Amino acid sequence: MWIKGDLHVHSHCCGDGSLSVAEIVERAREYCDFLAISGHCRVPEFFRAERQYAEVLEARKKFDIPIFNTGEVEFPIPRHVIFITTPENREFELLQALVPRFCRRNGVTGVEAAKEELAFLEKAWGDKVFMIFNHPNAPDVAAEDLLAIAPSPVFKVLACVDRGERRAPQTWDPGNAWDRLLTKGFRISARCGSDFHRHYDDGGRDQYPGEFVQDVLQVRENTYDEIFKAYVTGNFYCTVGDLIREPVFAFSAPGEITLAFEANGEMEKIEVISESGKIVAAFDEFPGERFSAVFKVPPGRYYRVRGMGKKRRRKYEEGEFEPLFLLNPLYC
Ligand SMILES: [Zn+2]
Ligand SMILES: [Zn+2]
Repeated sequence: MWIKGDLHVHSHCCGDGSLSVAEIVERAREYCDFLAISGHCRVPEFFRAERQYAEVLEARKKFDIPIFNTGEVEFPIPRHVIFITTPENREFELLQALVPRFCRRNGVTGVEAAKEELAFLEKAWGDKVFMIFNHPNAPDVAAEDLLAIAPSPVFKVLACVDRGERRAPQTWDPGNAWDRLLTKGFRISARCGSDFHRHYDDGGRDQYPGEFVQDVLQVRENTYDEIFKAYVTGNFYCTVGDLIREPVFAFSAPGEITLAFEANGEMEKIEVISESGKIVAAFDEFPGERFSAVFKVPPGRYYRVRGMGKKRRRKYEEGEFEPLFLLNPLYC
């Protein structure tokens, strides 16, 4: 089954958030099958970690969807990362352990400190935690820095689109940081997140979790463990504007790939990208709602797909946005 969700969501327990955890879940349920509540980990004046955790525990009793408790951490390589673990793996202690030791705002900076933080986690949490590098374009993170931390088994996901339609070229552009990581053999996936703080309806400029961007995971059931596993193994894709559903992306023969999906709107372009960002196949004619193609590809370590839809009118603002999707890599 496919489930949708969002791992980058701020509640009123952050200085710049607006809604309680229960209010977020209530409004996001229409769009999401799971959520993570990710407070800003600047302790203590800006983030009420205990309060957030208490609200998450309450919300779990009230709502029937997985709600991860986590935080957006000030990483030694500027700027934000999220660490995800499941409820039975000391979910509250995770941030309590990290923030006093590794918060960049306390002067812990640089690639070496980042590696130490990841090594600490690997030792203390093993394979029960993974890291998302959020908005690597705010500020711009050098591909070299991402390559330096990529050997850590904790680093699994690089963000693409989040708040305000902010699209990280590091993840989106062929040949940029993500392709460099993949070309070196690091199995990193891409995700989108709302970075929800305050909704348009409430005087803000955010959409609800899952309303604008979606991570769509393939799981056996909607549980914490299955969600965790899908993110760690890359068994998901991400979209803006819910552009596609039920993608198939697989080898049909050696050197031959099948790509198929249902489109939720008009498509403009699809590109299949391989090592060093080389585009090895492209499509710009779409007869119907169902896209299906079988094509040959040159030898490579991985293949990934990005697609753009026809521009649509924004829901809460003037102007248009570009719907898009990213499929996570198919590895050889
Ligand atoms: Zn952030
Ligand atoms: Zn955020």
